[in-house]
Order: sequence, then structure tokens, then C-alpha cells
Amino acid sequence: MILKNTPHLCKVLKHMSEEKKLTSASGIPYFNNEDSLSAGPRGPLLLQDFILHEKMAQFNRERIPERVVHAKGSGAFGTFTVTHDLTKYTRAKVFNHVGKKTRMFIRFSTVGGEKGSADTERDPRGFAIKFYTEDGNWDLVGNNTPIFFIKDPKKFGDFIHTQKRDPYTNCKSPTMMWDFWSLNPESLHQVMFLMSDRGTPYSYRHMHGFGSHTFSFINANNERHWMKFHFKTLQGIKNFSNEEAVKMKGEDADHAQRDLVTAIDNGEYPKWAVKVQIMSEEQARTYRWNPFDLTKTWSQKDFPLIPLGEIELNENPHNFFADVEQSAFAPAHVVDGISYSPDKMLQGRILSYPDAHRYRLGGNYEQIPVNRCPFAVNNYQRDGQMRVDGNGGRSPNYFPNSFDSIRHDESYKQPAWALDSNIADWYDRNAEGENDHYTQPGIFYREVLSQTDKKNLVNNIIGAMKGIDGPKKSEIINRQLCHFFRADIGLGMAIASGLGINPEEAMPTRHSAEHSVSS
Ligand code: NDP
Repeated sequence: MILKNTPHLCKVLKHMSEEKKLTSASGIPYFNNEDSLSAGPRGPLLLQDFILHEKMAQFNRERIPERVVHAKGSGAFGTFTVTHDLTKYTRAKVFNHVGKKTRMFIRFSTVGGEKGSADTERDPRGFAIKFYTEDGNWDLVGNNTPIFFIKDPKKFGDFIHTQKRDPYTNCKSPTMMWDFWSLNPESLHQVMFLMSDRGTPYSYRHMHGFGSHTFSFINANNERHWMKFHFKTLQGIKNFSNEEAVKMKGEDADHAQRDLVTAIDNGEYPKWAVKVQIMSEEQARTYRWNPFDLTKTWSQKDFPLIPLGEIELNENPHNFFADVEQSAFAPAHVVDGISYSPDKMLQGRILSYPDAHRYRLGGNYEQIPVNRCPFAVNNYQRDGQMRVDGNGGRSPNYFPNSFDSIRHDESYKQPAWALDSNIADWYDRNAEGENDHYTQPGIFYREVLSQTDKKNLVNNIIGAMKGIDGPKKSEIINRQLCHFFRADIGLGMAIASGLGINPEEAMPTRHSAEHSVSS
């Protein structure tokens, strides 16, 4: 194999071959890293061999809590380049002229598995990007699907429990998964993406990315537009069939990691075209779907993709733990010109992601090099565990003060946001106008999938649903079949017959339809 980035490797090898003294963590040179200090060859070890204790203690502390979701991942650094002028929609400096380049880092991941799980599991893929912009780090924490299983963050923990291990058997449980999905029909759209061959991408290079949530763009006139981000792979979509994915799980559990690191080492830099959909506030009021519902897409026929830029991954991290394992992304981190929307899942994630990082990496996680803003960071946050940035030195640690010149900048103020309602009430995800969980999955099945895609989708669903067992088996299967029927009669028939169920009996009656939607 010819490695194209040889100068870099030569530098690394030269650095490694330079002679250096072996030291303790505190820098004290010592002469023996292999044998312990012993009271004679057959005697006990001496407590004063602090190197022995340091080595063992450090080893005991090597693991940090793994991410509760997205634990298995891969990452690389790269460049975002603006290719089209969208300054009429956004004043974000990262987009302020064609040709502008911004350094970035992407972490791809599976969702449900543990840190050592297989890369080819049927699962959505995380597509989390950190842009190191001059206005601070902007994190876009998306997936390889434009939608999600739920639309209210209060359901997230329950949902993820069904994707993890059964509390009794400690095994993955199709019963838990389908029970949850069948009781939450808003999941259907994402379940169909997941069960299609795009649920088993060949590698991270061969899949699209989506910001998934609705965000807003704010321009220099303080005007807001709602928007969505799309990242279209320039390597082309390539998926494993179910059989190929299962086979690869046995052959190389780290297939996607190996694929990414090898491609970049070989100079085959993966690229994605960055596109956006834009919706005016006026259009949002009358659009037939709730534009802030994460289980729905905005039709590209109504809101065509507008080109914005390109991303290229061109640098492997020198150390996986340092950069990939310690990377931390937060949807809360948007920069001027890009802002939130009332998407309820986004609102929930604004809170929960930084909270997860503080738990996993500590309160000063923003100081870890991969997370650190390379531009000025000025504030009055001080102290805490692992404060390693000088802690503000002798400068004032309170605001306002009479000594320093750190000031608010009024130009960063966003426009006021008019809310539709001032009535606090529990969000009913099945209320009138929110309860069409079926039209888009039906369009996806009939109009987007090819004949082969349809066949594979049906077979993948049948295979997965065959894993449902226990006393509630029929109830769960029938409830889920009703959802497939409502999306498309032909889809429901094909799955029912594959499961050996009489389609006439499984077809939803008026009563079961009402029961299911209100459940
Ligand atoms: P369009 O025909 O304008 O767009 C269809 C979209 O589906 C394209 O983005 C296409 O992009 C993508 N697509 C094609 N094949 C597959 C596949 N096997 N799995 C997943 N996506 C695929 O129609 P609409 O925008 O009106 O959307 C129709 C339906 O398409 C939606 O209900 C949704 O289910 C699905 N979809 C919509 C997207 C959107 O943002 N509007 C994005 C992705 C899917 P490509 O071939 O490059 O993947």
C-alpha cells in the first residue's frame, strides 16, 4: 500500500526515533520500567517503588464513562469551504465569503451499542461536526437521517433503554424495541429509514449527514429564516445488505473505523456537499407539516436544496482517545447568524448535551484541546477540577469590574422571537395537526424506494420482528402491523404475510386506529 502523506509520517517517525529519557509522570528520569523493587529475588516488593504504584494507578483510571449513546465512534479533522453566497440569509462569519475555509472536526458513530460494538450494526449513525469559527465553536450534532424516532425529549431516556440491554437477560431485545415503536407511532418514519438498507451504511464515507433539527439563519438585517442542513456524500451512497452487515460484524467489528482512517492515510479525503433548505417565518405558519417536528422532513419539492459549501476530511487524529473519545459536541453551541428553533427535541438537547459532557469529562471539558476554541475566550468562569488554562491568571474574576476591558457586544443581539402561544400546557404529540404519523412514511415507501429497496426493507422488518417474543408478542406485532398498514396497504400486506399472519385480521379497524393513535 502506497501512503500518500509520507512527509507527515516521516516527521512522526523521526520524532519517535529521537532519543529521550524515560521519566515518571512528574518528569523524574528513572532507569527501570520493567522490574519491580524487591527484597531479594524471592522476597516481597517494596512500597517505595512509586513507579510501580504510579503505573498501576494510572492504568486503573484509563477508562472514562462511555457515552450513554453514540459510544462507538470514529473521527477526523478537516476543512469546510464556502462555495455559494448565502449572506442574504445569514450573517454567520463562517459563511461570510465564497472560498472561506474553516477548520473542523467530525465524529461519526453508531447509537445503541457499547464502545466495543460492531460498526455495521443496524442503527442510525451520528454525524457530529465541530466548526472552529472566529465567533466560537459551532457544533452541529446530527445523524445520517433527516428525522428521529421521537419528537418530545421527555421520551428520550425511555426510548434509549429499549435500544440497550434487557435488565434481566442483559441481551438486546427486539421485544422492547418493537413494543416502544408500536406504542409511539411517530417513530414509524425513522423506523422505516432504519430498516431500509440505509440502516447499514457500508462506511461513514458513504452516507449522507443531516443537521436533522430545524435551525434558524439570522442575517445582517436581523431577519430570521428557518432552515435545515444537509450533507450529501460525494463518495456516493453505498450500503451493506443485512446479510453483508451481519457477516462483516464477525469479520471486522471496526470496519467503518478502519475504512475512514485508511482512506485519509491514503490521501483519499472524503467530501460532502453542504446544502440547506430555507423556509420563511410566513411559510412556516401555513406549511402542511409542523416544520419543527423532528419526525417529519420538509419536502424538497416545496423547499429545494440550496448549495452552501463543501466539507473535506483530511487529517486523522494523532491519538484516538485524545481527540475522538474526548470530543464533546453540544447543539447549544451555535454562533451568531445561526440560531435555534422551537423544535422540542432541539430544545431538550440544548440542555442535556453539555450536562452529559460535564458528567463524562468534567466541568472544564471545553479546555480539552479538541474542544478548545482556538480564538479568544474571555469570561469570569474560574476554578474547578482539571482547570488547565491558567485560570485567568491575576485578572479580575467578577463582572462588572473597574479593571479589565471585557465588554458585551450589542451587535451579537438576536431578533426578538414572537411565540404563538402564552398558554403553558402539556404537549400532546397526537393532537389534531400533530398526529399524521403515516403520510410521509407512505411517500417514502411508494415514491422514494426502488423495487429492490422495498424488497430489502420488507425482509429486514420481517427478520427484525421475528425476534419479538413473550406473552405480549401478538399484541406488539399486531399494533406495529397497523402502523405499516396505515403508511401503505401493500407494505402492511407484505410484512404480515412474511410473518405468517392473515392480513385481513391484522388490518387496522376504525377502533384499533383510534386506540393506537391515542396510546
Ligand atoms: P424528493 O423526491 O424531493 O426527495 C427524496 C429524498 O429522498 C432525496 O433527498 C433523496 O436523496 C432521498 N432518498 C433517495 N433514496 C433514498 C433512500 N433509499 N433512503 C432514504 N432517502 C432516500 O421528495 P421529498 O423531499 O418530498 O421527500 C419524500 C420523502 O423522501 C420524505 O417523506 C422522506 O421520507 C424522504 N426523504 C426526504 C428528505 C428531505 O429532506 N425532504 C431527505 C431524505 C429522504 P438521496 O438520493 O441523495 O439520498
